Amino acid sequence: MAVVGTETAFEVLARVAEEERRGRRIVSFCIGEPDFPTPEAVKEAGIEAIRRNETHYSPSAGIRPLREAVAAEIARTRGVPTDPEEVVIAPGAKPILFHSLMAIAGPGDEVVYPNPGFPIYESVIRLAGATPVPLPLREEAAFSFTAEDLATRVGPRTAMVIVNSPHNPTGSVASPEALAELVRLARRHDFWILSDEIYSRILYEGEHRSPHALPGAKERTIVVDGFSKTYAMTGWRIGYGVMPRTLAGDVARLVTNAESCTATFTQHAALAALTGDQEPARRMVEAFRARRDRIVEGLNAIPGIRCLRPQGAFYVFPNVTGLVQARGLASARELQEALLTEAGVAVLSRSAFGTPAGDEDQQYVRLSYATSLEQIDEGLRRLEAYARGGA
Ligand code: PLP
Repeated sequence: MAVVGTETAFEVLARVAEEERRGRRIVSFCIGEPDFPTPEAVKEAGIEAIRRNETHYSPSAGIRPLREAVAAEIARTRGVPTDPEEVVIAPGAKPILFHSLMAIAGPGDEVVYPNPGFPIYESVIRLAGATPVPLPLREEAAFSFTAEDLATRVGPRTAMVIVNSPHNPTGSVASPEALAELVRLARRHDFWILSDEIYSRILYEGEHRSPHALPGAKERTIVVDGFSKTYAMTGWRIGYGVMPRTLAGDVARLVTNAESCTATFTQHAALAALTGDQEPARRMVEAFRARRDRIVEGLNAIPGIRCLRPQGAFYVFPNVTGLVQARGLASARELQEALLTEAGVAVLSRSAFGTPAGDEDQQYVRLSYATSLEQIDEGLRRLEAYARGGA
């Protein structure tokens, strides 16, 4: 099998565990998952479902009540009437990415994807035999893609454009102009839009904007969302896709082939998450907001670091070019290594999110602030000491 790229976060996590086994305390900003427990009522619903013996196969596309609840959620939050037949439940958002890409793209096709971006996109595009076409997200455009950059990367061979807003790794939100241009181009060139909206509820300013809601978009859009981030359910493995009925049938068949179905009691827990009290999810967003403010302020006070204030997700993507140069390093990758071994701080360099294209002279790292304020303060203190010449 062709060797495919993967998520460096998991490798760095292993390094952190290794350092900690040696007795070092590492402040980790490297993993993208909420540090909160799954809300109590959701856990109870899962436990209750197990007690009721909801422990067997379910339909591949998911249990009907959950598909109905997702359809209602999409209608409410995106303003798009949605039929449960247009919903596919899977063990995470990731399998929806895999299966819809496999169903749509193949050799000879091009798939445009955000760069920097979630590394899995490029891996799956290659796995499908299609050609990955990176779409740059630049700091000067607040890390939204621009209409011009998109227009020059799509054409008759484009099978799909992947967008991700709010965005991993920058926390940016796509501009309304960019989304409008995306839909216009999709209709003109007849390509699919895969809109990864896994952070749709982790938003600090304004309402969530989805291309799905724009006129003429619904019949060519796959919305990917899920429970991992909003309800702190990364380990339960559940997510969903919303797409036209025929494609939903194809994707559900791929779920049959690859996973059979999503764990049935997990689906009952997810149903409770979606239809129950939203206060725990709201409180998590408020905690993330306080952490965002603290980390952005702290990073901007460190010499050689410049950090935009992201509007969503739980990541910051500071420009560390000054720090890299001041410490005589060649790249953010070297900074990542130095911070781990010398300062005891785990971050991920720009290169974990795709090969830089057009921004090679600028250095970035990603910090996930899904960690406590105490850890953030300690991490900032260590970063500052490192930047001022110590470790
Ligand atoms: N999409 C993006 C942009 C992500 O950052 C992640 C997780 O890090 C996922 C999808 C995967 O989510 P899930 O746990 O639902 O598979």
